[in-house]
Amino acid sequence: MSRPAVYLDNNATTLTSPTVAARMLQLLEMGLANPASQHRPGRLALSVLEEARDSVLTCLGCPTQAIATANVIWTSGGTEANNLAISSLCQARPGAAIFGATEHTSVLEAIKLPTIGTNRSITLGVDPSGRYDLEQLERFLVARAPVALVALMAGNNETGVLQDIPLASAICSRHGVPLHCDITQVIGKLPCDLRELGASTVAMTAHKIHGPIGIGALVAQPGINILPMLHGGGQQLGIRPGTEPVWLAAALATALDEMTAARAAGAYARVEHLRDRFETDLSQLPGTHVIAAAAPRLPHTSNIAFAGLDRQALQMALDLEGIACSTGSACASGSSLPSHVLQAMRLPPEWIGGSLRFSFSRDTTDDDVELASRTILRVVRRIR
Ligand code: PLP
Repeated sequence: MSRPAVYLDNNATTLTSPTVAARMLQLLEMGLANPASQHRPGRLALSVLEEARDSVLTCLGCPTQAIATANVIWTSGGTEANNLAISSLCQARPGAAIFGATEHTSVLEAIKLPTIGTNRSITLGVDPSGRYDLEQLERFLVARAPVALVALMAGNNETGVLQDIPLASAICSRHGVPLHCDITQVIGKLPCDLRELGASTVAMTAHKIHGPIGIGALVAQPGINILPMLHGGGQQLGIRPGTEPVWLAAALATALDEMTAARAAGAYARVEHLRDRFETDLSQLPGTHVIAAAAPRLPHTSNIAFAGLDRQALQMALDLEGIACSTGSACASGSSLPSHVLQAMRLPPEWIGGSLRFSFSRDTTDDDVELASRTILRVVRRIR
């Protein structure tokens, strides 16, 4: 990619790490065969796939050798993993599907899947800081029973707001309802132990953690039966047929291992510090508000409202100055519709219309933040 001076759109996608790229190249050069083939190159491919699976489970704190291990289903990314979980859990039991109001569109729109049938969708709202109302969740589980599934994300892609997934899981399990959790923006950056999260299924994607685009995974707790959306061969126990993407799966695992090591070495504590400094710098501009400032947030995400400005005009003006950021979720990028996340938080329209998302990565430097802050201050003052 032709690089901007400062890339602050890591929630849309991260740059692939050299370690991951080297691992992919190594596997490509090995000429891996079909992992379902019985010959030696096939068995080698299968062992690479199994190693990748064990690595993902280890990062999620799951045992890899026990009889009841969690199931890793390789998908094309987070969208497919979310769709697969929702399709499957809705087919498994009758009842309503409760979706958080600020979920990613790959969760919200999954209700349109043909496999969903007549399941009704119920929206769980957020408070003005973007956190789900878990007392309301409990009330819904009683009043709207039967409920087939609850889908709540761990960390929001637009605001970075973190949800109390262990508490949501405990509430769901009291009512015997599975919880699907989209951990796409959280995994690698914060601890994600499946036993602590307690969710029945979690969705992830490699390209938010310095891996390649086109590979993700749905991880299902032991005993959670995932029904296929695709039909074909018996690969992945028939749950997601099609020849497994061996080197992409290995790339996801390598990216996750590298993230885990970077986090342990303090990379995301440093990123959080940079993010806070950036927000302090920008707060000197009158009419500037850090969205969800008081809520627990992902360390690398900052959503800032420049009240009264037009977010698209501002994003383009910054792009011309070499600062890459975004007007919200990448899926809605270029859309003039207001963000469903910020609307659910009931923020003033002049904030919603003027908000930009800045998302950092472990590669973001002090100089990047300083240049970005200076440029944004200058451009906003000029436009105002
Ligand atoms: N879930 C969240 C929270 C995301 O941020 C994204 C990507 O934007 C997705 C799911 C979809 O992931 P993918 O692009 O791999 O389909």
